[in-house]
Amino acid sequence: MSDNIDQDQEHDDIMYPHVVPFLLVHAGCVAAIWSGVSWQAIAICAVLYWLRMFAIGAGYHRYFSHRAYATSRVFQFLLAFLAQSSAQKSVLWWAAKHRHHHLHSDTEEDVHSPRHKGFVYSHVGWIFHRRHDATDLVKVSDFASYPELMLLHKFEILPALAVAGLCFLIAGWSGLVVGFLWSTVLLYHATFCINSLAHVHGRKRYVTGDDSRNNWLLAVFTMGEGWHNNHHAYQSSARQGFRWWEIDVTYYILMALSWLGIVWDVRMPPEPVLRNEQRLGSRVVRRTAEQLARRFNPENIALAIRSSVHETELSVRDALFLLQHRADLRLANMPTRDQLLAEAQSMFAKTISLDEIVDRAYELLVESVCLLLVVPPPMVGAVAKSQANAGIYLGASPHRLDG
Ligand SMILES: [Zn+2]
Ligand SMILES: [Zn+2]
Repeated sequence: MSDNIDQDQEHDDIMYPHVVPFLLVHAGCVAAIWSGVSWQAIAICAVLYWLRMFAIGAGYHRYFSHRAYATSRVFQFLLAFLAQSSAQKSVLWWAAKHRHHHLHSDTEEDVHSPRHKGFVYSHVGWIFHRRHDATDLVKVSDFASYPELMLLHKFEILPALAVAGLCFLIAGWSGLVVGFLWSTVLLYHATFCINSLAHVHGRKRYVTGDDSRNNWLLAVFTMGEGWHNNHHAYQSSARQGFRWWEIDVTYYILMALSWLGIVWDVRMPPEPVLRNEQRLGSRVVRRTAEQLARRFNPENIALAIRSSVHETELSVRDALFLLQHRADLRLANMPTRDQLLAEAQSMFAKTISLDEIVDRAYELLVESVCLLLVVPPPMVGAVAKSQANAGIYLGASPHRLDG
């Protein structure tokens, strides 16, 4: 694994040597035709699936990515070893990629957003790109200072080889193929479903500025990771199922471990978050306002205003003044604030920050329309293009971006 991001980003190969084991694990599953499927191997498969799913949720995700609880250095190492036995690369790589995901969820910069690159790419395609193989150790500097974790980072495949060897010793070829390979492939796709499905299917209880969803079926298979919208709303919580009926087995085990003194400082969502009464952060407000503003086409609005000022006493200057100072006035095709509010209510989950989102979206729309109005008509197309390049232009015809 390379730590030199710049060097790796120069190449964007579709395949690189590190993904070969990933493909071999899949191909190896077919060998069950020759190895047979013993009951002992199926039992190993079930135990390894649930044990390592706990290590993925409680280790890779809630501990190494989010520091949702504290533990000893020994248990930290055990968690890292067990998580890495699922062959999903080092805990440092996983946590760095995941922290990046939360910083840029469902924007162009998100490495696995179904919104931008499609479902299959977000599920599995992204790992085939060499540039995603690099680890930004700066993002995980809190853990990169442990030499034992750096060792696991350097020899990331060792834990998986050790567990695979153990399966072979216990139950022979069937133990290796069915016990180890089958459970490893199931774990790959259960984990990847959180990147893909949990950003496409399910309910949104919280406004998070991204596409994260709560999906009960995924939560069952991933021991609680399917409550992904809850998680995006309050990331540092060790508990992801916020309601009593939101089954979150990883959290129940963490609570049991805390009673035994193995983990402590288990972080919980605060009351306002549980009641969905928390004020949204500025980044979430901005992203949500951009989604709302994109429902309206500033180019059409500017054109309508231009043609209407010829028919009335209004000049473009008057129209600009009205746009900037009288949001309550109806101006050819320009939606009123109330219309934006109605659209926001239909688009988003309940939040006490809705007015803030609507105000920001209105500002964005007015900015875009004003910019198009102050420019002479033949240049409008060029301005729209440059706005789009600068990330200002709010988009084409109104269309739904969120389900
Ligand atoms: Zn996510
Ligand atoms: Zn997370």
